[in-house]
Amino acid sequence: MTRLSRMRGADWINTGLLVAMTAAGLLHPDPGLFFAGLLQCFAVLTAIVLGGAYVSHKLSQRSGTRIQGPRRGRSMILQEAYESTRAMYTVACISAWPIAQIQMGDPSGLVWTTEAAGGGMLTIVAQFFFGVILADAWTYWKHRLLHTQLFFGFHKQHHSFRDPTPFAGFAISPFEALLTFCPIFLLCIPGAPHYAPMYFGLIAAFVGLNFYLHCGVTYRLAEWLLPKLLLNSSAHHNLHHSKANVNFGEVSFFWDRLCKTSWADAQAKKLG
Ligand SMILES: [Zn+2]
Ligand SMILES: [Zn+2]
Repeated sequence: MTRLSRMRGADWINTGLLVAMTAAGLLHPDPGLFFAGLLQCFAVLTAIVLGGAYVSHKLSQRSGTRIQGPRRGRSMILQEAYESTRAMYTVACISAWPIAQIQMGDPSGLVWTTEAAGGGMLTIVAQFFFGVILADAWTYWKHRLLHTQLFFGFHKQHHSFRDPTPFAGFAISPFEALLTFCPIFLLCIPGAPHYAPMYFGLIAAFVGLNFYLHCGVTYRLAEWLLPKLLLNSSAHHNLHHSKANVNFGEVSFFWDRLCKTSWADAQAKKLG
């Protein structure tokens, strides 16, 4: 299979995936409730992602230090926004399942009390760290998989933005969005409790971090603080857009250090 036909195949699979994920709602016991939840979720997610990207972009135009120097040509904001919106539709197709389940009054994995989450604050804190470690490992290895020859067609959209803006934060294909966000399905399992305040807090932090990773500028305080927390920074992820095959971590740089896939490792290899 040639590289071009693999790319076209990926485009067809992305489109088929969106159709299949939408049509799957017809199998829901209450399709009306499912599609209402899907549309509401899509509207809210799109407003958050595009609204947040707009504010972050305006801030990055007025402050911070540009990483790649003066922007060459026009930024690809419209394309970035389109890809991010399409990814949010994919996320809404996933989220509509637990949303409809909760609206039907059935038990779900989303709980609002520490007791229902399986214990006291200590359990919640343990769940927090476990969740962050799992999310980091999941997104790093997913990203490595998408950089293989077979799967790169599903990730090429994100790399068409070599000098990204915050609108590219979620500019990923439906296939990649499904891989990244499929853990949302766990909310359908009552035996897998997720403490809601922490769950939504982590998602909000992940969204905010993604805006910063794609804003194209650095702020001294953020670049100093984030690595201290083992988290990625704008300077770190921007290199993934400009150089492509380094810095795969999407939350932290832990796996990049461990697997020697960071920009610093690539430079050391070159010199050695
Ligand atoms: Zn990126
Ligand atoms: Zn990549």
